[in-house]
Amino acid sequence: PHVDSRAGAAVKAADRAHVFHSWSAQGLIDPLAVAGAEGSYFWDYEGNRYLDFTSGLVFTNIGYQHPKVVAAIQEQAAKLSTFAPAFAVEPRSEAARLIAERTPGDLDKIFFTNGGAEAIENAVRMARLHTGRHKVLAAYRSYHGGTTTAINLTGDPRRWASDNGTSGTVHFWAPFLYRSAFYAENEAEECARALQHLEDTIAFEGPAAIAAIVLETIPGTAGIMTPPAGYLAGVREICDRYGIVFVLDEVMAGFGRTGKWFAAEHFDVVPDLMTFAKGVNSGYVPLGGVAISGAIAETFDKRPYPGGLTYSGHPLACAAAVATIQVMEEERVVENAALIGETVIAPGLRELAERHPSIGEIRGTGMFWALDLVKDRETREPLVPYNASGADNAPMAAFGAACKKNGLWPFINMNRTHVVPPCNVTEAEAKEGLAALDIALSAADEHTTA
Ligand code: PLP
Repeated sequence: PHVDSRAGAAVKAADRAHVFHSWSAQGLIDPLAVAGAEGSYFWDYEGNRYLDFTSGLVFTNIGYQHPKVVAAIQEQAAKLSTFAPAFAVEPRSEAARLIAERTPGDLDKIFFTNGGAEAIENAVRMARLHTGRHKVLAAYRSYHGGTTTAINLTGDPRRWASDNGTSGTVHFWAPFLYRSAFYAENEAEECARALQHLEDTIAFEGPAAIAAIVLETIPGTAGIMTPPAGYLAGVREICDRYGIVFVLDEVMAGFGRTGKWFAAEHFDVVPDLMTFAKGVNSGYVPLGGVAISGAIAETFDKRPYPGGLTYSGHPLACAAAVATIQVMEEERVVENAALIGETVIAPGLRELAERHPSIGEIRGTGMFWALDLVKDRETREPLVPYNASGADNAPMAAFGAACKKNGLWPFINMNRTHVVPPCNVTEAEAKEGLAALDIALSAADEHTTA
């Protein structure tokens, strides 16, 4: 990469003067000025290049600047840059068709949004109108977005500031054997107890009041906890029994991330509504949406759907989605995620776990992996306390700094690092990232007490 410190300093100065950043204490952050990106890498203005093991915020499933997608956006911009949502336009029609052909079951109608949170807002609105009920159940250890309903469904500390108790959301524990809420000793027990806990929650909340259960198929930011066999099928059965709409949030897990087009395919389960965003067009232009079942679509056949967005199905975003899906088919990106996950990442992480006492558990599939870092493998005490900041978070900060020093940009959330590179990552890139992790984990090991 080319060095241009003055240009970098100007970008940084204007950012610090005028950009108000997400989820941050504005005076305590130091955002890296990025000069460019290509494929699995990005670089700054100082000549430092980083292998991106975060895929942005887990959205660049085909990497940065894919020439075919860039060209498709340019061509669409030249042809028809924008158009209002009430009209039928070619890129929107085509994107909806390509998505509906890939979503499971009869999720054949697509409502487009600008991102994941709006998809959740609209899925919940659809479920409430379809059922005539108000309450919505969601899991602790989840993230569903930053807008009112989505943040209230979220099961992590980002909800706390926005939760005034009027959202109609109720939280329950989903299965997670390594840090079980149920004292289970194996996946089958964890599954059975989590399903019983959900049944109990429904009984005590009143089944006739519950519009929807919203779950990430495989929870992402909260720690990539693949549900045990039978759990999602069990939730499906409970929803059917009580007339509750089953919403699967595939904003992060969808579009190849888990080595299938959608994570629901791993579990043979079809929700009533499925939300998506991120990987649908690798984040090149903001796009999200809800895939809708026949029964719910029918509710709004004669009765207007009371929801909409100026940029619903924006032509540039949809053209990017069409090109992204075509690239994913042509270049076998979903197959690559499954293959590199199974043959490089999984064995590589297992080998690291043998040598690094800070690794408590590795879990995941495809290009969707988490390392749960611990102080002590026996007690499983997290390497940093839940929601730690400042000095309490120093061990994770040291781990992150060591990654960056070795050319790897890591995804870090609480006591975890996630391995979530682009789904078209090469074997050599994956191995390069594992080698940097190996060095950085030695920094984490120093904070273990075992
Ligand atoms: N749902 C899940 C599972 C997510 O991971 C995210 C974002 O990380 C969202 C919803 C919110 O999406 P957005 O940030 O595009 O609104």
